[in-house]
Amino acid sequence: MVAPTVGVLALQGAFAAHAAILERLGAATTEIRKDAQLDAVDALVMPGGESTTMSMLLERSGMLAPLRGRIADGLPAFGTCAGMILLSSEVMDGRPDQHVLGSIDITTRRNGYGRQTESFESDLDVTGLDSPFHGVFIRAPIVERVGDTVSVLASVDGDAVLCQQANVMVASFHPELAGDDRLHAMWLKEFA
Ligand code: GLN
Repeated sequence: MVAPTVGVLALQGAFAAHAAILERLGAATTEIRKDAQLDAVDALVMPGGESTTMSMLLERSGMLAPLRGRIADGLPAFGTCAGMILLSSEVMDGRPDQHVLGSIDITTRRNGYGRQTESFESDLDVTGLDSPFHGVFIRAPIVERVGDTVSVLASVDGDAVLCQQANVMVASFHPELAGDDRLHAMWLKEFA
């Protein structure tokens, strides 16, 4: 099988660490900053960072509609933390002018774990992995609602932290900081 070319949205945030993991797993990667670059990729990672800033940069670069369209047409996408917020169908506690792509039927709340637990780590039982995955949560969104067609692949205290619907997978944590490539490998194998 030919290795997929994975685009990593590189407008802002933690894109380099994702690219390093994907390359280690044998994928080719390319940094995405313009909509035309989407034509050359087989799958897309949307990293963590700041969803309000990414939303603004996506709007300014004219990428919102093309990106929404490509994912709706089946482009496999993996969003982490801010990337999860952007892929969700609704965001609470966002900026009023913040956009979401509506690619997966979940509602997220920005910084939803509150001040005490703003950043925390938790070993996650992930469907499809045979031992726990270390989840690093940094000002993470909490998933407030999960649609009927969404699979929850991992939870913390009853709240979904890893979800998948058709070609879209989202994590509220930072798998690129775990020192563990298994989640990216699973995504490449199953969805990309
Ligand atoms: N709190 C950030 C946001 O609202 C997300 C944090 C992250 O990606 N680590 O976009």
